Amino acid sequence: MLTEEIQQIVSHYVMNTYDRFPLAITRGRGCQVYDAEGREYLDCVAGIAVNTLGYGHPDLVAAIERQVRHLIHTSNLYYTEPQGQLARRLVEYSFADKVFFCNSGAEANEAAIKLARLYAHQHYGPDRFEIITMVNSFHGRTLATVSATGQAKVQEGFEPLLPGFTHVPLNNFEALEKVVSDRTAAVMLELIQGEGGVMVADPAYLRGVRNLCSQRDILLIADEVQTGMGRTGTLFAYEQFGIQPDVMTLAKGLGGGLPIGACLATNKVAQVFSPGSHASTFGGNALVCTAALEVLRILLEEGGELDRSREKGAYLEKGLQALQERIPLIKDVRGMGLLRGIELTIDGKPVVMDCLARRVMINCTMGRVLRLVPPLIIQIGELDHLLTVLSDVFTKRLNNIKR
Ligand code: PLP
Repeated sequence: MLTEEIQQIVSHYVMNTYDRFPLAITRGRGCQVYDAEGREYLDCVAGIAVNTLGYGHPDLVAAIERQVRHLIHTSNLYYTEPQGQLARRLVEYSFADKVFFCNSGAEANEAAIKLARLYAHQHYGPDRFEIITMVNSFHGRTLATVSATGQAKVQEGFEPLLPGFTHVPLNNFEALEKVVSDRTAAVMLELIQGEGGVMVADPAYLRGVRNLCSQRDILLIADEVQTGMGRTGTLFAYEQFGIQPDVMTLAKGLGGGLPIGACLATNKVAQVFSPGSHASTFGGNALVCTAALEVLRILLEEGGELDRSREKGAYLEKGLQALQERIPLIKDVRGMGLLRGIELTIDGKPVVMDCLARRVMINCTMGRVLRLVPPLIIQIGELDHLLTVLSDVFTKRLNNIKR
């Protein structure tokens, strides 16, 4: 099928929940994807921060192929080795002691919300159930995670929302202190708000939040669905902020493109879950856990992709700063590692379309913030190409405005 036919069939039979670009992707290799007509694109969206190893990484493909032949899925009524091995690795590399596996970021956050409520309920009784989250946060599209999300646009029409969520502005400690009470079970936040316009939390603010939470036995939940798995230059973003959460959620990059989510917690918190508290049919099946184990190995082996991605993140940062100096349409550039935002003085969508016409895929959040989340395996030459295309696109727009 060609792009137009694919577009038609999808539009006709799939529910209309996505504002899609006129591009049908048929295959990928490295950081390139190919459309139905065979045209090549440099992908700096990477499945929205999912395909950290790009497309068709030979070791990942081989690991998945091997596992497919042995066992794809079995019920969580039984044990599998890949699940145990993956949990062990995640625990070894993080603050956590225990893991719950599910299939997506929203589900990982659902697990975290339930865990926090149960912890508070068991230790302090039924009146302690509130969770404080941040304005412009994004935590998912299930009803609980929509309620947690601090953006009216994802909530409108779905009321009544789940009770017990309060939203305060990120990086405003007084605002947080004001709403904390004996009813507060948890504070939940992203270390960098990805969907919220690549807004980075202030380390001093986070240390204040950590202290406040520790003093009052309020759980600190870090939503690392987007920032986790090397995206910011360390395996988990919290490592660069000088704090440790009590609970952390992962998804996106964890499975190298296969759907997996994880909720990690310290023993103190995790022990409130018992058989029947929470479950997932597919959660942590043998195939996705094998893929995630291989992703971790490739990222963390000596001189592996995570180390290499740090240099590339710094290179991209420098390139974007140089661009900002030349282009008055750029108000701010921010982010960490290979999660970068370019805040514009104009609408971002036409810029995204201009880049697409030049066969470079980028994405836009909050209307005016271009977001770059390329595969961590991206090469310096490819970053140069991205920067050249951005420069050309901005220069053309500037010239049009001047005319
Ligand atoms: N949390 C964060 C920080 C996210 O960025 C996202 C998705 O963009 C989610 C949760 C939801 O993840 P999923 O779409 O896998 O449910």
